[in-house]
Amino acid sequence: MPRDNPRHPRFPIPGGPELRARGWRQEALLRLLENVLSVGEDPDNLVVYAALGKAARNWDAHAAIVRTLTEMDEDQTLVIQSGKPVALLRTHAEAPLVIMANCNLVGQWARAEVFYELERKGLICWGGLTAGAWQYIGSQGVIQGTYEIFMRIAEARFGGSLAGRFVLTAGLGGMGGAQPLAGRMAGAAILVVDVDPDRVETRRAIGFLDTVAPDLDSALQLIGEAQAQDRALSVGLVGNAADVYPAIAARGVVPDIVTDQTSAHDLVYGYVPSGMSPADVRRLRVEGQGQLMAAGRASIGRQVRAMLEFRAAGAEVFDNGNLIRTQAREAGVADAFDIPVFTEAYLRPLFCQGIGPFRWMALSGEESDIARIDDLVLELFPDNRIVSNWIRLARAQVPFEGLPARIAWLGHGERTRLALAVNDLVRDGALKGPVAFSRDHLDAGAMAHPNIMTENLRDGSDAIADWPLLDAMVLCASKADLVALHSGGGGYAGYMTSAGVTVVADGTPAAADRLDRSITNDTSLGIVRYADAGYEDARDAADRAGLLRP
Ligand code: NAD
Repeated sequence: MPRDNPRHPRFPIPGGPELRARGWRQEALLRLLENVLSVGEDPDNLVVYAALGKAARNWDAHAAIVRTLTEMDEDQTLVIQSGKPVALLRTHAEAPLVIMANCNLVGQWARAEVFYELERKGLICWGGLTAGAWQYIGSQGVIQGTYEIFMRIAEARFGGSLAGRFVLTAGLGGMGGAQPLAGRMAGAAILVVDVDPDRVETRRAIGFLDTVAPDLDSALQLIGEAQAQDRALSVGLVGNAADVYPAIAARGVVPDIVTDQTSAHDLVYGYVPSGMSPADVRRLRVEGQGQLMAAGRASIGRQVRAMLEFRAAGAEVFDNGNLIRTQAREAGVADAFDIPVFTEAYLRPLFCQGIGPFRWMALSGEESDIARIDDLVLELFPDNRIVSNWIRLARAQVPFEGLPARIAWLGHGERTRLALAVNDLVRDGALKGPVAFSRDHLDAGAMAHPNIMTENLRDGSDAIADWPLLDAMVLCASKADLVALHSGGGGYAGYMTSAGVTVVADGTPAAADRLDRSITNDTSLGIVRYADAGYEDARDAADRAGLLRP
C-alpha cells in the first residue's frame, strides 16, 4: 500500500507487497521513479533537486515510462533519451531493463545557453544525475557526505571535534537542506542562510534546523552562545548569501568553516541575485536571462570575495561542488580557485580505495527492513569505524524521507558483500520486500567533472570523460538493472559526464549474479581510474583486490 505523503499529498510514497509490473525488477524501478517525486523539491513540475534536475522530460514522457515499466517483460530493455522513453527493444533477461542517456551535448555546443534553448523546445532535460535515474532519496542521501566532510576537517584542523566551532553555509534546497543536520551531528554551531522562506520552513519543520533567527545579529548571538557552551546547534536565516557573508565579514566575525550549497551552478533556474526574490527570478527566466546571469555572477563575486576574506583570516573554506568558484572567476574574482574543492581536499584518499556513498532503498516501504540491514552492516563490518559510527548516528538522528533508505561510505568488496547478504535476507523472507542498491555520482569510477570530482588529478587527466563512459559500458556488460549516462544541464552544461547504476536484490540467484558483477566491477573500475592517474593508494588497493591491470 502506498503511504500518505504530507509534504506532497499528490505524490504518495510507494510500498507494499502488490506488484503492478510483471516482475520485481520492473516494479522496483517504477517505485524508485515514484519515490524521487515523493521526496522531490517541486514534483508538480517533475523537478527533484538542483534547481532543474528532473525525473522525466514532461508529463507525457512520465506517463509513457510508467506504462512501459508496468507492461514490459524481463527480456526487454527500455531506452530513455533525456527523460523521454524512445524505444522498447527485445534484448535478453540478463540485459539492463532500462538504459538512459541524459543531457549529453556535443562538445562545441555544450553550453548553458544551448541547453536552455533545447530545454525550451522540449528536446532535452537535465537529469540532475540521481533525479533523472530515479535514485535520489531526499536530503537524507547527502547527509553522510556532508557529515564526512565536516569530520575530515575536524580531524585535520580541530583535534577531531567540531564542538565550539562555527560553520557558515548557505542553501537549504534538496541537497543543501542536509547541511544543518550534518553540522549538528558533527557537533558544530552551524548557520545556514537561504533566500527562500519556504525552504527554511521546510527544513525547520522536519527538525534539521533547531531554530530560525529573525535577523543576522540574533543569528550570530545564538551561534556565539552555542559555541561558548560547546553545544551543537543549527540556526536558519532567511537572507541572501551575497549580502549575509560580506555582512559577517564586515563585523569582523570569522567562522571556523565556510562553504556554500546554493544552486550557484545555475544562474537562470537556481541562484537568486542580491536584491531579488525567488519570484523575481521566475519572472525574468524567459525574457531577462542575460540580466539574471549578469546579476547572479556579480552577486556570487561578492559572496566569494567574502569567502576569500574568511580564508585569509584562517577559516577552512571549501567549494562544495556547485561551481561557485567558476562563476566567481567569470565575475572577475581572479583568485577564486585559491578555495579548494571538497573532493580533492578531503575525499580523494577514500576514492582511491573505492570507498564512496553507496545506498540502499527498502522497496517494501517498511522502516524495519532498513533497521535489519543496519544490524547487518554492524555485523559485517565491526572494524570499519567510519561506517559503524555513521550507522549508529543515522539510526538515532536521520529521519526517513520517502522510501526508507540508507547511505553509507563503503568500499570495494564491502559493497558486494553487503548486497549479497541482503539478497540472502530477501530470499529467506527476513525482509518484507526486495531492496534496490545504487550509488552516488561522487564515487571513484562514476564522474569526470574537472571542477568537482576530477580537479587537479595527479596526471592531469581531469577533463577526460572516457572513464564514466567505460563505467556505463562495464555496468551494462555486468547485467545491472538500470544504467544511466549523464552530462550536465543548465549551468553545468559542458562541465561533467557521469555514469549511474541501480541493481535490485529480489532474492533470486540471478539477482545475486547481477549484484556481484555490477557492484564489484563498478568499484574495480573506480580504483583503476585513480591507479591510472598515479595515486599510490589506489595502486595498492588494486593490488590488494587482485585487480588485473594489463
Ligand atoms: P536546490 O535548487 O534544491 O536548492 C538551492 C537553494 O539555494 C534554494 O533553497 C535557494 O532558495 C537557495 N539560494 C539560491 N540563491 C541563493 C542566495 N543567493 N542566497 C541564499 N540562498 C540561495 O539545489 P540543491 O539540490 O540543494 O543543490 C545545491 C547545489 O549543490 C547545486 O549546485 C548542486 O548541483 C550541488 N550539489 C552538490 C553535491 C555534492 O555532493 N557536493 C551533490 C549534489 C548537488
